Amino acid sequence: MIDEERVVLESVRYAAPPPMIKVKGSHREIGQQIGEAFAEQIQRSVQNARALLDQTYDTLELTWEGAEIQARKYIPFAQERYPQYVDELVGMAEGAGVGFEDLAVVNAMEAVTMDALHLTKCTSLAVNGDCTADGHVLVAHNEDWLPEDERGVYIVQAAPDDEPPWLAMTYGGLLPNIGFNACGIAQCCDSVYPNDSRIGIPRVIVSRAVLSARTLSDAMRSALVSKRAAGYNHLLVHETGELYSVEVSARRFAILYGEEGSIVHTNHYLDAKMQAIEDDSDELISTRLRYFRARRLLKRTELHSIKSLQQIQRDHLNYPNSICNHSMTHVDPLDREKTICALIMDLTARAMHVAWGNPCANQYHTYYLD
Ligand SMILES: [Zn+2]
Repeated sequence: MIDEERVVLESVRYAAPPPMIKVKGSHREIGQQIGEAFAEQIQRSVQNARALLDQTYDTLELTWEGAEIQARKYIPFAQERYPQYVDELVGMAEGAGVGFEDLAVVNAMEAVTMDALHLTKCTSLAVNGDCTADGHVLVAHNEDWLPEDERGVYIVQAAPDDEPPWLAMTYGGLLPNIGFNACGIAQCCDSVYPNDSRIGIPRVIVSRAVLSARTLSDAMRSALVSKRAAGYNHLLVHETGELYSVEVSARRFAILYGEEGSIVHTNHYLDAKMQAIEDDSDELISTRLRYFRARRLLKRTELHSIKSLQQIQRDHLNYPNSICNHSMTHVDPLDREKTICALIMDLTARAMHVAWGNPCANQYHTYYLD
């Protein structure tokens, strides 16, 4: 058994809630407003990405200039299909006073490191009104990522000129994509490991587009956009309680439905035809443990609430590679990860409850979509 008290005591605690900004206008303007408000966080994320490449040069043999050359190959695909989100990045770079190409690397980090970042990151789950005490539709996500980026977490509430308003969590210079919009659609993204990745539209841009979907089929169409570079699992939930996992790779996809009022996804493919193209399946162990653990914990409670989902997010089974992830002790910088933020979206109340850092050590703060 682990010493729960010690784990909590040793975790970083935040006295304040994650900062939030309200932005509106064109995509360029939205990017600029985010860039100006969070210049420090964005600059630091670029420095962190540079430091990571420096520390891992022996393994990846990738310099920052090399990473920029790689990232530059992806931009024309993004520009052709989603010029508005390239504009957001341009605005963010302007506002934060960093180079566009720096942000291009940050947003294509998984691709330019050829997925050598061995992060198995993220646990997502959702329950609908069949499984909640008050009938609300709840979506929970633990974001597991590099510990040094944790300080850069922030919340964005956006009203773009040509999109439904949305509320999302992000960090550093990443385009927001984990959140929900005024059409009642929520998205969580979980990394998966397909072996058919190619140069194309970066995953972060694809998932940014999903955040603007007006219907579930729009959201799925966006996740499956042609010329995509790779894929995430997109856990998609509609406020009516429809629950989906859309597993994506560069060339394949599978659509899974949440039976009996709940759904869970972590970082391995669940569909057989996706499993056939999974890279290094035998290394993806802890993601399987988190998946089954979350399912068991969901079943253990008949009617869920925000509190019961928070309990699942704080779970330490298989510590430190637990749902509440504390896996920071590795020597290899590519293997270090932790839960940098846990959030629960209440689609019925249009609210997002966010714990900054590990949810075992930090309280949740609530944000509403106006
Ligand atoms: Zn914890």
